[in-house]
Amino acid sequence: MKLIFERGKDGQGCTLLPECDVPEIAIDAPVREKKLHLPHVSENELSRHYTELAKQVHGVNDGFYPLGSCTMKYNPKVNEEAAALPGFTKIHPLQPAHTVQGCLEVLKRTEEMLCEITGMDAMTLQPAAGAHGEFTGLLLIKAYHDSRGDKKRTKIIVPDSAHGTNPASAAMCGFQVISIPSGEDGCVDLDRLREAVGEDTAGLMLTNPNTVGLFDKNILEITAIIHEAGGLAYYDGANLNAVMGVVRPGDMGFDVVHLNLHKTFSTPHGGGGPGSGPVGCKAFLKEFLPGLQPVLKSEEHGEIAEDEERALRFAVAGAPVLRELAFAAPEHSVGSVKAFYGNFLVVVKAMTYLLMLGREGIPEASRNAVLNANYMMEKLKDLYPMAYSETCMHEFVMTLEKMKHEIDVSAMDIAKSLLDYGIHPPTMYFPLIVHEALMIEPTETESRETLDEVIAVFREIYEKAHENPQAAHEAPVGTYVRRLDEVRAARKPILRYEFQ
Ligand SMILES: *Cc1c(COP(=O)(O)O)cnc(C)c1O
Repeated sequence: MKLIFERGKDGQGCTLLPECDVPEIAIDAPVREKKLHLPHVSENELSRHYTELAKQVHGVNDGFYPLGSCTMKYNPKVNEEAAALPGFTKIHPLQPAHTVQGCLEVLKRTEEMLCEITGMDAMTLQPAAGAHGEFTGLLLIKAYHDSRGDKKRTKIIVPDSAHGTNPASAAMCGFQVISIPSGEDGCVDLDRLREAVGEDTAGLMLTNPNTVGLFDKNILEITAIIHEAGGLAYYDGANLNAVMGVVRPGDMGFDVVHLNLHKTFSTPHGGGGPGSGPVGCKAFLKEFLPGLQPVLKSEEHGEIAEDEERALRFAVAGAPVLRELAFAAPEHSVGSVKAFYGNFLVVVKAMTYLLMLGREGIPEASRNAVLNANYMMEKLKDLYPMAYSETCMHEFVMTLEKMKHEIDVSAMDIAKSLLDYGIHPPTMYFPLIVHEALMIEPTETESRETLDEVIAVFREIYEKAHENPQAAHEAPVGTYVRRLDEVRAARKPILRYEFQ
């Protein structure tokens, strides 16, 4: 396919600028040394270019997208409608607060709803992604220990089943990462955890349900061990889709949590963004939160006291409680992690989702996500061995070691075969503790009929792979590109177009 720069012809194309209606000023020196390369294409060519690009990708609107740990659920169109309202789009972050009270209310109410769902006391909506939230949450943990003069806490414990971003964020934050192995059952090995904690423990980062799709049965004991050692417990809430409205990280003993609005709360993952990774914390960490936090003001009393503020939470929409909202930096803030209020329109979409589902709909979505995953697991486990036999949460992990050994068909081959059926491959070779892993997360937004179709495809691929393993090595055959050199693409990406 041609690049946009290779299309069209110099001097042709749509006129983007209106005619000059002010006096022209001659500038002596040339403003730019080199000619500015802009595509010269007509609107028609432009439109076709993007349509062609769109046809080459697979999104949740194209078909089943069971990418484990990524919660590729359907993004309701009503979210987009809300986020397109001019009151949300035609504003500027530097506008005086009294002119954007509605927008501040969106931030405030979303914060409150997410605090209720997570069992936290305060939340920042500033971070732009899950990993960004992890980094922010770790800054809070660091600031907390520093504020107590406790400088020896330099280590973060991360189980080996963690998402790769966990150790990366801890290292970026200047912590030393202590990896502890999981037990046979896929859960944290308590003995190894007890051995790992000490006076140098800053905290633990835990994903729950974890990356093998299991809810850690010892969760309360885990957080107790960390707290007894003087550390803080960080909850990677990217997998919250399994438990939202059912159990809360705050009640499990966690002090900090991040959420992925672009997973659990149905906002688009986009092509790398914009996303949103809010971070919630318990009250004792609130003073360290980044950026500006909403504060309620009333005309008579100025800033409203915290306990009173809490009493106003969850007031029914429309009730005349939210008066003047303003924003203020927390007392010992770690500083801003993103400009202004984060990706505001993503928050509008997530709030729309929360309000559409309501108190009953939110836990129901999670229960259906768990049901769908268990349904698929049960219907496939006779052909595809599962890494763990327990009831799973929102996702499950199969291991194709036996198939690889017997007929030399790998998890990669099966994943690539799915592409020819219009199905996005599951997460492959992750978690690292499972060999030949395929991690499947169907989400609650798929119907029983779709699940049955996909189950039939998996079964057909299994039969075909046994009849003709070579064909499995060659899949996909019907896609725009065949197998790519993924290592080269990652190591030597071509990110710039070199003009002749
Ligand atoms: C997706 C994910 C993350 C990272 O979130 P991003 O928004 O991709 O940065 C962290 N932890 C877990 C368990 C995840 O699934």
